[in-house]
Amino acid sequence: MDTPQSTTLHKTYQERGYCSRAGYARIREVLRSCCWLYNRSLEQRKNTYLSDGKGMSLYTQMKELTQLRKEQQFWRDIGITVSRGVLVRVDRSCKAFFRRVKAGEKPGYPRFKPHQRYQCIELSEVTAGMVKGNRIKVKGLSVIRIRPNRALPASSQLKALRIGMHGRILTVDLVYEEESEPLTSVDTAVGIDMGVNERMTFSDGETVSRRVIDRSRETSLQRAISTKKKGSKRRRKAVSAFACERRRNTVRNRNECHRLTTAIVRKYQKIAVEKLTIKNMSRKGGNRKRGLNRSMMEQTWGILFQQLRYKAEWAGRQFAEVDPRYTSKTCSHCDEVRKEKLAVYRIFECLRCGHTEDRDTNAAKNIQKRGWEYPAQPVPPAEKDMLVQSSI
Ligand SMILES: [Zn+2]
Repeated sequence: MDTPQSTTLHKTYQERGYCSRAGYARIREVLRSCCWLYNRSLEQRKNTYLSDGKGMSLYTQMKELTQLRKEQQFWRDIGITVSRGVLVRVDRSCKAFFRRVKAGEKPGYPRFKPHQRYQCIELSEVTAGMVKGNRIKVKGLSVIRIRPNRALPASSQLKALRIGMHGRILTVDLVYEEESEPLTSVDTAVGIDMGVNERMTFSDGETVSRRVIDRSRETSLQRAISTKKKGSKRRRKAVSAFACERRRNTVRNRNECHRLTTAIVRKYQKIAVEKLTIKNMSRKGGNRKRGLNRSMMEQTWGILFQQLRYKAEWAGRQFAEVDPRYTSKTCSHCDEVRKEKLAVYRIFECLRCGHTEDRDTNAAKNIQKRGWEYPAQPVPPAEKDMLVQSSI
């Protein structure tokens, strides 16, 4: 048995933050100013490019920031890591823009943000002193208290800090560098087919039922917004309540995904999934199942894959993304490809060897084969219950 290697990874702990009434107001004020700074630096980059045909470096902008801090008391009162963090963010979005241009993707120029879209204070650098026990102290902001329900790593490991306001909910993201914890390796492999009828189908025949969202509360909150006058305090409150509900659903789903992916990574050594492309996920790619677009998006395959990817790395498991073409049209028994268009049959039937199987299970087996090029390993029956069934 090979001994799994330990590597360092960044792990984010997201905690809910609490502070005084004045503290919340201060965070909102700082966010508004950061948003202004963000738009201003983006505009500056744009204008420099238009007049000189040149880009602008992060360091040039940081020099300008020094000037701004000399002129305005407000920026002097806030820690330099807060305002530099804004410039780092602009720099990152511009770099991503040029990367997309170079790669020939749809470029998408960085947005000028309205304040509603600017919800996060990101620090350019962190010091260990920023987290003391359950208190977060950043210059210029009031003390934020957190209530972690598990022990946080030593603050010397702290790599990044983000403070976000979502509606009236304050969150603190603490990013730590940690040693990975490889699990004892097991002799199991799996292929996972993502779907809409079943959220996931495994090559050993197990399934996770589709995600169904209860939107009744969301709908009534949205309706409540529409009856209120624009610019009124009541409307602002209603918008905030709606944002909270949306966020609640997001977090609920994320937690559900965490439960699922943790169970998968514990159970299998080798995990294969389809390589997702935007093309087969959305309507834009001319997908045949156009009507299913929304329910496809709701299954959040991207989140599941992302979690599987890093958890596999963390646990010393193998993770493969395979070419998804013809996985549902190929016979997992004899590799015969059915060329004709398949309607929405639930059962796959091979014309050559007569192999008959559930369509998704057949696809999952093909994904597993493409990932590891060897037949499925039987899973010991004792472990069959480890997978948490979706219950939302
Ligand atoms: Zn066959």
